[in-house]
Amino acid sequence: MSSETRPETRTVHVPHVPIEGSRPIAVPIYQTSGFSFDDPAVMAESMGHPDKSFVYGRYSNPTVRSLEQAVAGLEGGAAAVATGSGMGAINTVLLGLLKPGDHLVAQNSLYGGTAAMLNELIDRFGIEVTYVAENDPAALRAAVRPQTRLVYLETISNPMTLVADLPGMCAVARELGILSVVDNTFASPLLCRPIEHGADIVVHSSTKYLGGHSDIVGGIAVFADAALYERVWHFAIELGASPDPFAAWLTLRGMQTLALRMERHCSNALHLATRLQEHPAVTAVHYPGLASHPSHELAGKLLSGCGGVFSFDLAGGREAGERFMSSVRLALLAPSLGGVETLVLHPATTSHRALSAEELRRCGIGEGTVRVAVGIEHPEDLWADLARALA
Ligand SMILES: *Cc1c(COP(=O)(O)O)cnc(C)c1O
Repeated sequence: MSSETRPETRTVHVPHVPIEGSRPIAVPIYQTSGFSFDDPAVMAESMGHPDKSFVYGRYSNPTVRSLEQAVAGLEGGAAAVATGSGMGAINTVLLGLLKPGDHLVAQNSLYGGTAAMLNELIDRFGIEVTYVAENDPAALRAAVRPQTRLVYLETISNPMTLVADLPGMCAVARELGILSVVDNTFASPLLCRPIEHGADIVVHSSTKYLGGHSDIVGGIAVFADAALYERVWHFAIELGASPDPFAAWLTLRGMQTLALRMERHCSNALHLATRLQEHPAVTAVHYPGLASHPSHELAGKLLSGCGGVFSFDLAGGREAGERFMSSVRLALLAPSLGGVETLVLHPATTSHRALSAEELRRCGIGEGTVRVAVGIEHPEDLWADLARALA
């Protein structure tokens, strides 16, 4: 800014330092709500298209775009829309693609927020939903109607860790001209890439493994097809679920260690699940890495690791579950998953407390079921903590 202006003006218009001859190693945080232009025609053009110049923070931002390209690349998609939360990504996709009178088929066991949102769609938007098992392509085929637009699946379900038959289910969807959406939060793109198995859209809560450090809330939707991406992007900028650049930056920073973390999450979970199976206070352990799990064989085909979440049933029922919760010391009593710290929760009295005993049974959740979201601590320290709590 020229020295002809007064201090009041010069404090506002601070210099921007151009970078020439070198570039930052880390992705910079573009903490700006908007962008200024030299050419009004370029500005006008940028308002209507995701691939033109950056114009306004709700539309896109260079830090957020880095995250979108990174996750789209990992998932093998054409492009992605990052959002302020996982539910933001799920709602961007559902509200962006569905209209009243449409029908969707979803798997029986869904993340709680998604299940609640589908009920909203049914009650308030006149959308119909049919539930089928996550591994039953014949049931999916039978459920499809002329109004069916979407099939909604989760790679690994919570908390019983059932693995969806992505190739079987997505093939039926494709054959019948229906879009398939897969929540890949529990697997991360390191363990499974649903687009490789025929999915059209992948959604994540990046709050979990992508961010990985329990310090952000974020989400992202990845599109196999660029035209579908553009259609949803236009809706996304109106919905306004866009993320803050700093949260996007923390997610990018977390993702740099995703491969290392996932290896440890998986090996820790298998170690603990295997040892818990032998424990006299435990009646069942639910982890696809175990031969006893109903999804074991499918997991071997679809996943390059079974993830960091497992659950187990205590012989002593609800009371034993509650006692276990108050006995762990290292593991933290907390919702969520995917961070470096091990978290435990008792679904019957926390995440699934709204369900009756009968509904819990239908989801396969026992009164004494405990969910463990394993962190990256030393496995022996974790085992000592669980074993002490069980004793
Ligand atoms: C946490 C979670 C969500 C919701 O994500 P938020 O970031 O909490 O909005 C959706 N799906 C799954 C599988 C999750 O674990």
